[in-house]
Amino acid sequence: MAGQEPDRGTRRRWFRLPMPQSPPDPRAGDPARPNESEAPVSSEESPAEMVESRETARDDTTTPAQPSTGDSGGVPSTDVNAADQPQEEAVEEIDDSMTLPRVISIANQKGGVGKTTTAVNLGAALAEMGYRVLVLDLDPQGNATTGLGISHRNVEGSIYDVIMNDTPLDDCVEPTSVKNLFVCPATIDLAGAEIELVPAFSRELKLKRALQSARDDYDFTLIDCPPSLGLLTVNGLAASDDVLVPIQCEYYALEGLGQLLRNVALVKSNLNPELDVRGIVLTMYDARTRLAVQVEREVREHFGPKVYRTVVPRTVRISEAPSFGEPIIVFDATSRGAVAYRELAKEVSRGTTRRAG
Ligand code: ADP
Ligand code: MG
Repeated sequence: MAGQEPDRGTRRRWFRLPMPQSPPDPRAGDPARPNESEAPVSSEESPAEMVESRETARDDTTTPAQPSTGDSGGVPSTDVNAADQPQEEAVEEIDDSMTLPRVISIANQKGGVGKTTTAVNLGAALAEMGYRVLVLDLDPQGNATTGLGISHRNVEGSIYDVIMNDTPLDDCVEPTSVKNLFVCPATIDLAGAEIELVPAFSRELKLKRALQSARDDYDFTLIDCPPSLGLLTVNGLAASDDVLVPIQCEYYALEGLGQLLRNVALVKSNLNPELDVRGIVLTMYDARTRLAVQVEREVREHFGPKVYRTVVPRTVRISEAPSFGEPIIVFDATSRGAVAYRELAKEVSRGTTRRAG
């Protein structure tokens, strides 16, 4: 698959992506499902500055700068490019007020959409701006932990101890190679917590209580949720002020999103009235595919100002960074991925003044 240019000329009929309110049935009315997301991963050598090209694209809605996507192969240009869509005002700003400290769950029950990558790299970019940031790893796979250079073998106290054994959060937090950036690690023990929590008293509020004493120590706490809507995620949502949802720019991107939004609403009405979906970030965007362009357009039409202007490009460097235990801003500080996550950090923080330092 990689290395093959998809045949753009043969599949013309565009489709509506399944949207959250309707029952998620991504194949409905679409017998010939396009799979143009199979385009090869962008390499860093790509000359186009994707972040900048996204800026451009936003200025005239969704026309990508890449010439390959403009190769319409007989499609009416308005079909995909839709340069006449009046979406700009709606996408302009996310404008609710922001106070620190802020606890943000990064959640989407789909796996592989960029939750961990966003927790690690957004966290690092916020820390680089001078905010004090805690990345709290709530996924038993512990990828945010290793992605920030902490080996599971060296973890003494983890989020499992915080949730299940009432260990103070402070005792488990570790510094990282980035100034101002800290991590509360997770190990595979945490997989047990999903079950062990079931009979526990106030099982949905364990994390919220544990965070109460520590949340004031950080400007931002980013919770990297597991790919499920189980008790761990509910604990993350109950402990948060906001939810940030990464959406991968591919066909099944929106499948299950309705369920996630319903769960957020349930947690809001039963456990945490402050909770809101603060923002949606499009990840792994490959401007060479029509599908990515289409997903972006549909998501922006549907969610309007909740969608961050910054789109995270699909790059090899972002995917390589975790194996070095470094966020992208350290691993390759000038790469497109680093630029994108810095832009996202600006949007997420909206320039809010740090409380200290
Ligand atoms: P999740 O936490 O939602 O399961 P991850 O953040 O672990 O998703 O991402 C899944 C995979 O995709 C990882 O291998 C990661 O390195 C890779 N990845 C994430 N974002 C990007 C990106 N922007 N470009 C390239 N690869 C990415
Ligand atoms: Mg993850």
